[in-house]
Amino acid sequence: MKKLFLSLFFAMFSFALVWCTNNESQNVDESRLDYLVLVNKQHKLPDDWEWKLNLVEVQNAYDETIQVEKEALEKFKELREALLEEWVDIELDSVYRSVSKQQEIWDEFLEKYGEEYTKTYVAIPWFSEHHTALALDICLIKDWELIYENEDMVKEVEIFDKVHAKLADYWFILRYLEGKEDITWYWYEPWHLRYVWDVDVAKTIMNQWITLEEYLGEAENEVSDYDGVDFWESAIYSELDRQDAVDTIYGVINYDWEFPFTDVKISYMWDDFSKDNLNYCKEMSDANNLNAWDECIVFTSSFQIPKDSLVLEPDSDISDYTWYLGRAKGWEWKILTAWFN
Ligand SMILES: [Zn+2]
Repeated sequence: MKKLFLSLFFAMFSFALVWCTNNESQNVDESRLDYLVLVNKQHKLPDDWEWKLNLVEVQNAYDETIQVEKEALEKFKELREALLEEWVDIELDSVYRSVSKQQEIWDEFLEKYGEEYTKTYVAIPWFSEHHTALALDICLIKDWELIYENEDMVKEVEIFDKVHAKLADYWFILRYLEGKEDITWYWYEPWHLRYVWDVDVAKTIMNQWITLEEYLGEAENEVSDYDGVDFWESAIYSELDRQDAVDTIYGVINYDWEFPFTDVKISYMWDDFSKDNLNYCKEMSDANNLNAWDECIVFTSSFQIPKDSLVLEPDSDISDYTWYLGRAKGWEWKILTAWFN
């Protein structure tokens, strides 16, 4: 009987997620989570969050045991079932990451690669939505193959359209929308779902195609106009060339840095400077196996570090931060390097 029960169990779940309830009933916390909590690059995870969190374990697409907030997982399973009926198979990738784990990763990167690299590629502890355990990164199974790389997933437009159409019914929203990068400070992520608990809130957000920031009235704007830019004159590069280069720099300031820096001033470093640095650009492009760059452009900048920044010195003024960009003629500018002069 036990055998039969077991095989039945496996049959039922071979295609579904196997999840283990957490057996700890010792600390029943009555205080409810704020399921609409906003955690982003400007808003820190509430201090008491981890105390209130009811985590359960589940296997992800790679058979790793991961943790998810209990109610979010229940709804995710319903969402997944509903999608399977439409032949769409979504699986969990990564979900919860504790602040201390994030701190570990941060420290490790800091030691290995230094501050510049770390602050560009690692989320700052306390400021990642994955700390909430309500943010779910999913991956897809299509034709029996697991699709999990970001660049492969963004190509699956049709599948993700079906996923997104169902989210609100199961109290989820899409968090990082295409075209709303200036509000979320993240590039489009069709795989990053967020549980909001409330079906009406989810429907409002998804029907209006707005971000959680907009719904909560917390949207902040990016640095995007050229008010603080001094393009000077150039005999080498057109105004458009120089604007393209500044847009590339804005891309880093707005999306790659954990905190958007304020009071940004950018200045073109004159033609001579760009010419002088051309060889340096070429060396760097060779070293990075890029198209051989035959153009180089240099800008200097100054900005203000936000008060709540955990990197660099909070609330300090930075000046002489210089950007070197290169490109093969006719192609897009790429940042070669940037540093304090
Ligand atoms: Zn994510």
